[in-house]
This record gives sequence, structure tokens and C-alpha cells, in this order.
Amino acid sequence: MEICGGQTHTLMRYGIDELLADAVQLVHGPGCPVCVTPLETIDRALALARRPDVTLVSYGDMLRVPGSETDLFHVKAEGGDVRVVYSPTDAVQLARSRPERKVVFFAVGFETTAPAHAMAVLQADRLTLKNFSILASHVLVPPAIRTLLGSPRNRVQGFIAPGHVCTVVGMREYDDLVGEFHVPIVVGGFEPVDLLEAIRMLVMQLEEGRAEVENQYVRSVQYEGNKPAQEAVARVFEIADRKWRGLGSIPVSGLRIRERYAAFDAERVFELATVCTEEPAECISAEVLLGHKKPTDCAAFGTRCTPERPLGAPMVSSEGACAAYYQYRRHAVTR
Ligand code: SF4
Repeated sequence: MEICGGQTHTLMRYGIDELLADAVQLVHGPGCPVCVTPLETIDRALALARRPDVTLVSYGDMLRVPGSETDLFHVKAEGGDVRVVYSPTDAVQLARSRPERKVVFFAVGFETTAPAHAMAVLQADRLTLKNFSILASHVLVPPAIRTLLGSPRNRVQGFIAPGHVCTVVGMREYDDLVGEFHVPIVVGGFEPVDLLEAIRMLVMQLEEGRAEVENQYVRSVQYEGNKPAQEAVARVFEIADRKWRGLGSIPVSGLRIRERYAAFDAERVFELATVCTEEPAECISAEVLLGHKKPTDCAAFGTRCTPERPLGAPMVSSEGACAAYYQYRRHAVTR
């Protein structure tokens, strides 16, 4: 299983899964941040974007993710103040230049984006901004792998861990997983040759009966990770239980803003906890994210669910497995 959606897209784009199909079956993991953001978090962002006093700011792909009724693009078309930025510090600057607006940054992601979001909070605190907050939905990779490996339906024999996440957090936590479950893990990059090498390293471990953490992405990942980034995250966030889209609540699998920075936590500032939403029954994204099914096993794939009219987040995101299958395997759709 490759964890990261970026890795999935490379595998699909270059046909690596087809190339190796006789020997290795690749399944796609829960490593797309947009895909695992719970529907109710999207609905909370939509509720904020509809407020006349709020400017909601996020990365571009979040605008197309469907909530239970609509998406942020439609709220923007209806007059909501919704903006796209490339960096959370752009949102801080916006709050600084528009003191009459309540600027909320919709901050989703894995360990990779958490340092930048932490820095935005620290910067806003240093500037004593009273009109900036973040709606944070951060999840952590190792607890998701632990959930997956603990499932009686698990069929994954080796993992390609996400190189960018490990660039930040290092490899220590993956050692714990290997010790617990005796499953090989190779930290991999994102180019075709990276993934081929990572797969080869995993196969070698399996053939030799080894289960270790190995690092294919040596040009970026060090064992201890990026200490300053980890310290920034630890200052602003604490580890908490988190709900994952389709997967439900996973213990200690996410980050929440510490009490010290509660003034920058949109959930507390706007009292959003009352917005609760059920997942749609038709979308089998949970099965896809756990590697139990392929996107093409979904009855809606390529018919009722397309990138233009997505039913679920894995079809929306540029990192989503369903979008990857649609983009590179349209010929495989027989319905
Ligand atoms: S094809 Fe669409 S409906 Fe089916 S699992 Fe993927 S996102 Fe969900």
C-alpha cells in the first residue's frame, strides 16, 4: 500500500501498477488530506463562509469538496467571501489588512502542512491579531496505519510511507509500527523511479523474511525529521482523537489547537461543534481508503461520480485515488 495520494497518482500515471500486476498488487491508502476530512468539517466551513462577517480562506482544492448540500465554490458564487491562498501566512496578512473582517483559514492536512499552520497561529499571536483563526482538521499517518493493520480484513503486506510526512516527523514512529505488527515499511518518494525502488525494497524484505523501516527517500528524509518544524507544531497543537472521513474516529490520530491558542481556534471562537453530519451511503470511500476495494468497484465511479460532479472527496482532490483512476483509467470503466 502506498499511503500518499501523490504516490497513487504517479503509479497510475506511469502505469507502474499495470507493469507489476503479475507479481505485486498495489492498493491505495488514506493519505489524501482532502479525502479524509470529515463531511461535518466541510459543513462547518460552509457555515462559516455563509456568515456576512467572515472571510473564509483555504487552498484551492478544498473549494470543490462537496459538503452535505453544497460546496465552497457555490457559496462563493452566492456572495460568500471565500478566497484561495497558497500559504496560510497569506491569510494572516489578509487579516492584518482587513481588521473589519473575521478571517478564518480552513487548515486541513497531515503532518506535512501542520508546521506552516502552526507558524500562522504563532505569527497571528505575535501580531496580536483579534480577527484571525483557523478551522483545523489535521490527521496523523501512523495511527491510521495502526488501525488498518489491526483490522481483521487487512491484506496489506508492506507499506510505502509518505516521504514528505517523514521529512517533517522522521521515522521513529514507523519503527514502533514495525515492532508491533512485523510489517515492512519503506519511506518512499514521489517520482516513478522512487516508487519502483521503494517497491523493490519492500519485495526484498518480504523475500528475505525481514520487517524493517527503510528509507528510499534519502535525499529528503532524516531519521529524526525536522526538529524546528516539530517544535512549532508542538507549541500550537496537541494530539487528540480525530474523526476521519469514512473511517470514523481514530484514537490519538489528529491535532487540535492547545488551550493557550484557543483565541485562534475557529471551532471555539464560532462554537461550531453543533454542526454534525452523516456520511452519504452511496460513496464507498472508506473501503477505498482502507485498501479493501478499488475505485472501479464503486457503482457510482465514472457515472454518477466524476471529477466534474463528485459524490465523494476521493474524486475531488488532486490526490484522490478515485480521481487518479478516472484520470488515467477511463477506458477501464465498463458501465
Ligand atoms: S467513485 Fe465517487 S462515490 Fe465512489 S468511492 Fe470514489 S468518491 Fe466515493
